Amino acid sequence: MTDFDLRGIGATSQRARDRLAAHLRGSGITDERVLRAIAETPRHIFVEEAMQYLSYEDRALPVGHGQTISQPYIVALMTQAIIAKKPGRVLEIGTGSGYQAAVLSGLVDEVYTIERIEALVEYARARFEAMGLDNVHGRHGDGTKGWRAKAPFDAVIVTAGTNLVPEPLMDQVADGGRIVIPVGTDDIKELKMMDREGDDWHEKTLELVRFVPLRQGVS
Ligand code: SAH
Repeated sequence: MTDFDLRGIGATSQRARDRLAAHLRGSGITDERVLRAIAETPRHIFVEEAMQYLSYEDRALPVGHGQTISQPYIVALMTQAIIAKKPGRVLEIGTGSGYQAAVLSGLVDEVYTIERIEALVEYARARFEAMGLDNVHGRHGDGTKGWRAKAPFDAVIVTAGTNLVPEPLMDQVADGGRIVIPVGTDDIKELKMMDREGDDWHEKTLELVRFVPLRQGVS
């Protein structure tokens, strides 16, 4: 798993990435840093080989173990919300393929990312290593507990849907920090941005989204 074709050819080349970034600009992503990161991150190495020809389409794709790599528009929207605040230390819950963490890595100081499925952690680590992303730290574990040893975080990004925001994540966000999380009781969740001011939280809904569920425990 280390001989990744980072540049890609044909449908997975730089041209395809530039087209995706242009499409996202048209969809309302305004932060040029985010669009540049999308254009620079080889998404095709984060998807299964049989799906690589679809990797620069704006759609979610399967990554095995019943999980998905998020749609680029959602990755861009969440990234934009995360870096609009202090782009310092970020905690991601739900590493999945590792693509979201890779997009964040060039835009923030440190990315700490937790995944409950061990096999996915190994794959994602191999990709981070192949790309030379030294500021991405992956761990196998239950992300609903956060990563206490590395707290506080300037921002927490949860890339799985939940009906309740896990308390430990709220505790581990620094004052002035932000959580971006899909929340709701239905299949379609509200992508929320929650800003901390002391013990107060201010919420805003960015979008309606569909995500695989945030589960307790590891596998
Ligand atoms: N950010 C990913 C997409 C994630 S899909 C990407 O860029 O590819 C959601 C992921 O969250 C899945 O891999 C799922 O296994 C993981 N997940 C669900 N519940 C979790 C939990 N409690 N802790 C850590 N990861 C969890």
